[in-house]
Amino acid sequence: MSHSAAQRYLENALKLGILALVGFGWYLVTIHIGLGWLVNLQAKWVIGGIYLLVTNVGITACVFLYVYLCTGRKTNNVNNLQIPDLSSLTDPYPCETHQGGIASCSRNDCGSAWKPPRSHHCSVCGVCRLDFDHHCPWLGNCVTIQRQKAFLSLLIFFTVTYSIAIAPVADTLISHIDTALWESYFDLAAQKSWWNWPWSWVLVSGPLGRYIVGAVLGFRIIASELMTLRDVLRGTTSYESKKRSGRIQGAPSGKYIAIPQILASGTDEAYVVVPVPNGERLYDLGWKDNLRSLWSTPVFSKGTLLLYTWPKLNPVIVRSALRQSRDI
Ligand SMILES: [Zn+2]
Ligand SMILES: [Zn+2]
Repeated sequence: MSHSAAQRYLENALKLGILALVGFGWYLVTIHIGLGWLVNLQAKWVIGGIYLLVTNVGITACVFLYVYLCTGRKTNNVNNLQIPDLSSLTDPYPCETHQGGIASCSRNDCGSAWKPPRSHHCSVCGVCRLDFDHHCPWLGNCVTIQRQKAFLSLLIFFTVTYSIAIAPVADTLISHIDTALWESYFDLAAQKSWWNWPWSWVLVSGPLGRYIVGAVLGFRIIASELMTLRDVLRGTTSYESKKRSGRIQGAPSGKYIAIPQILASGTDEAYVVVPVPNGERLYDLGWKDNLRSLWSTPVFSKGTLLLYTWPKLNPVIVRSALRQSRDI
């Protein structure tokens, strides 16, 4: 069994585990806290009713988003895209080489297909995805820009739902630590790697340390929400920001912009190619426009790509590239 096949097998088991855990969470929230405690024991009919409604809607939304994000191993793959006729382009476009060349991929089934800007070959899924953000092991699938809205919604729904779900029992616990604590308690990653691990009682100075580590794991969910939001505001994907900071070995760090002749005055070449300085965010349109473009994408996108739309480029980088092309 290859490494990626083994990982896929593990991820499928993990998905079932996560769904089982969510089912268990629903059971605790509905039967125990909602019906058993609020409605039956305390006779709080209105509060109990609202609590049951909100938590059940929240859990249903989480399951729906989770299943959606798990499915579609081949969504947004770029294998069917036609290699574009570069001479017909009239706008500056990002390219891979100093000659204005574009990338192709020959891994797995890609068969030297065109690899458009912002796509990346995921070795676990074996597919070239457009607008690749990261491969999420908890989903067993890639998160792409088209699915970022659903991904972010899942994280936010999860935090809000479980914060509300534990609210009736929260006053027995210390207020802000316990959000993180319970969140990680319901988070399978934390569950598997910490809560159900007998050594968690012994390591990190006994039972107290056990809860401290649990809280830290809960905060990690919140941290990943903040990281995703930060990337959205910066108009970058987590893969691109890792690449920029040099955290991915062997990944090409340099990029180029090809400027068609009609825009670069005073040249005989069809294109003038200008390098993009290292560390620049080529697709950053400013935080307002970045947020607007996230806002305008549908939560559930169609998975098949028939036509490629060239990404909008950072206007500051384009202006400076245009200036440079005129100086050459
Ligand atoms: Zn590929
Ligand atoms: Zn993947």
